[in-house]
Amino acid sequence: MPPLPVKEAEKIGEYDLFVIGGGSGGLGTARRAASYGAKVGLAEASHRLGGTCVNVGCVPKKVMWYTSEEASSLRHAAAYGFGNAEENDKIVASFNWPKLKKKRDAYIERLNGIYDRNLAKDGVDYHEGYASFVDKNTLNIKSLNGENYTIKAKKIVIAVGGKPHVPTDEEVPGASLGIDSDGFFELEEQPKRVAVVGAGYIAVELAGIFNGLGSETHLLIRHGAVLRTFDPMLSDVLLPWMEHVGMNVHKETGVTKVEKIDGGLRVHQKNGEPIDVDTVVWAIGRHANDNGLGLDKVGVKQDDKGNVIANEYQETNVEDIYALGDIGGKAELTPVAIAAGRRLSNRLFGPPEFKDDKLDYNDIPSVVFSHPPIGSVGLSEPDARKKYGESIKVYTTRFRDMSGAMLDENQKQPTAYKVICEGPNERVIGLHMIGVGSDEILQGFAVAIKCGATRKDFQATVAIHPTSAEEVVTIF
Ligand code: FAD
Ligand code: NDP
Repeated sequence: MPPLPVKEAEKIGEYDLFVIGGGSGGLGTARRAASYGAKVGLAEASHRLGGTCVNVGCVPKKVMWYTSEEASSLRHAAAYGFGNAEENDKIVASFNWPKLKKKRDAYIERLNGIYDRNLAKDGVDYHEGYASFVDKNTLNIKSLNGENYTIKAKKIVIAVGGKPHVPTDEEVPGASLGIDSDGFFELEEQPKRVAVVGAGYIAVELAGIFNGLGSETHLLIRHGAVLRTFDPMLSDVLLPWMEHVGMNVHKETGVTKVEKIDGGLRVHQKNGEPIDVDTVVWAIGRHANDNGLGLDKVGVKQDDKGNVIANEYQETNVEDIYALGDIGGKAELTPVAIAAGRRLSNRLFGPPEFKDDKLDYNDIPSVVFSHPPIGSVGLSEPDARKKYGESIKVYTTRFRDMSGAMLDENQKQPTAYKVICEGPNERVIGLHMIGVGSDEILQGFAVAIKCGATRKDFQATVAIHPTSAEEVVTIF
């Protein structure tokens, strides 16, 4: 649906629900509320619906991950009898980044169109503009053509997401010469040499993509590990493999300065050793996207990082104002934002059976699209030990998965799984996996863990052979 013309938008009476932000959480909330017959409006400040995930997150990232996986398959093809290694390497080296980017952009544009049509189909009014609070039931919408008007709503949902954090030039001189993850998706050419700074999801994923596609890749991390909020086994396996496949991992370091040099950028590190690259990517976390929202006008409480504080029902401290998704700073994942939004709308507008509906933030499965991928659900071993002490039991296995059977020894990717159980019944409270297919394997096991499965349940399940996943039920 095209966004509402301003004149028409002005004529609308009070909404039952108005959502600020047309990303994962906002769209999930608005569409579910409208499905119950509520009068719903939604404002989106950019030109396109879908938010971070669709435009500069999960979706284009996954396309790039597949691209890098394709390169890896080509490199392995000779071992399976296709062509010869030298020729295949030439094909990989001929990768056409601009061509792929064009196709990827077109794919995203198609998705934007689908989101437009879905909103229209569900009867949600789409306001293309920037929303800010006037009072607790009134929002100002600054439309993208610069006109201002106000709307009224009985209930308002804040689903404005986050934005990449980049150090200021005062903090790190020359920091603004680098790009962030949004900039990654705008790159028209593949950098020949790139430095990725950070140690979380985005740093690991983007560095893996660049490296897989043949860029000279430097990953700069502050400590000796990546993904430190995950089970340590994952970094223990991933980091050496990243180095094995040619990534330059600079540990216990930090960027002190970035400067322009002839033909590129020079990254100065704490240890004094400079790195010359074409592109620097900051991937050091994301912050709340609360600029100009006017939260102070209505007294909505935020924490010291700017995240809006909401309880388990997504309620803020101000009646009838709710917050969900990344702006809450908790489990910043698309399915979490969608689930929280849908449950909120179920509770507010759905049938009586949903009167207590809310998202359970425990045991949320998540995947890091590294090479090989990581899947993780439940408590890490250190967290499990902290919570349950000596009553936990930890089962691990490491092996080379069968997709490597025909590969040269140095091409075989590592696999490692860890199952953590607790109590006399050995309830499974954590599953951590790295290896080919972990991204797809995890979901089913996450269901079992959510249902309270025990070691006995896992063992009672017949293995599927020959797969990597079978090791999860035979690990004990
Ligand atoms: P968003 O999707 O960010 O949507 C917020 C929307 O609000 C935006 O469109 C913004 O323009 C709009 N907005 C902001 N302020 C206003 C305003 N005042 N008025 C009107 N509109 C406004 N998650 C996964 O689950 N899997 C992944 O593989 C994954 N990969 C990712 C890769 C990257 C590079 C990044 C950055 C994130 C990734 N994520 C992934 C996280 C995921 O994208 C977010 O958790 C998710 O998009 C959060 O949804 P949201 O609705 O809270 O916010
Ligand atoms: P993360 O919070 O995952 O990681 C950022 C990391 O960068 C920190 O953990 C920290 O690691 C390091 N860091 C922080 N400050 C600095 C600094 N000044 N210099 C160097 N390193 C620093 O943030 P991301 O930006 O990677 O991703 C944001 C969120 O988006 C994720 O938490 C996730 O929820 C979501 N996301 C999900 C994906 C998925 O589902 N596959 C993919 C991408 C994003 P350390 O303390 O070890 O230095």
